[in-house]
Amino acid sequence: MNWFKGIFLKLTAIAAVFFVSGFAAIQLESVQDWMLLRIFSSTTVDSGAPAEPDALSASVCGSRSPLPDPNRAEACVLVEAGERLFVVDVGDGSVARLRQWTTPFNKIEAVLLTHLHSDHISDLGDMHLATWVLQDRVAKLPVYSPAGVEQVTAGFEMAFGIDYGLRNAHHGDLIAPLNAAGYDPRPIDNEALTLIDDGNLKVSAFLVDHPPIVPAYGYRFDYKGLTCHQWRHQQKPGDGGQQPRRRCVVS
Ligand SMILES: [Zn+2]
Repeated sequence: MNWFKGIFLKLTAIAAVFFVSGFAAIQLESVQDWMLLRIFSSTTVDSGAPAEPDALSASVCGSRSPLPDPNRAEACVLVEAGERLFVVDVGDGSVARLRQWTTPFNKIEAVLLTHLHSDHISDLGDMHLATWVLQDRVAKLPVYSPAGVEQVTAGFEMAFGIDYGLRNAHHGDLIAPLNAAGYDPRPIDNEALTLIDDGNLKVSAFLVDHPPIVPAYGYRFDYKGLTCHQWRHQQKPGDGGQQPRRRCVVS
């Protein structure tokens, strides 16, 4: 049995060397950057259907209220106008669902919040990270919302400010640019409900009833002659577990 014991000891030693060298390797910044690149590129590149430059769609990425449901994320709708992406509401679990869809986070131009209940905003921190690290974002993340959004985004920035600095110090400006870290809050003025109007795309807000929340907004997207309305608290199936993604009808 001595030969067996010898082989066992040699294999154990080889395994220990691999473990130690592997552990040492992942301490290197360059290796960590490479791992980060692999992780983000494997979860954020849309490998599905080719871009549809003339299409407008809305997909429900979350539809539950604060009541627990392991198969559904809280409120979230992904709007795609050609290659331009917008996310309406980012409740808990929204970003995980968007990652399941291999959403190209670098194409998300802005977040729009219908109102400031927790089930519509609680994933703002993850949405920031998903659209920032390795996403080539050159400015802070725009967030359209009813008044009060400045307080909400300032709170997230305060909570995650240390993280922004740590990631920038670790990975540098190319991967985690500090000047693009944080949010660009854009409170909506009831006298100026057109939020974006640049050629093919128009995004406008409209008031909806959600007493006692005043104001609360829905959003309308017009793109190349197509129109898609998105209402707050829209309840649709389709964001549960591994079910196929479903899109709203555009007319
Ligand atoms: Zn609400």
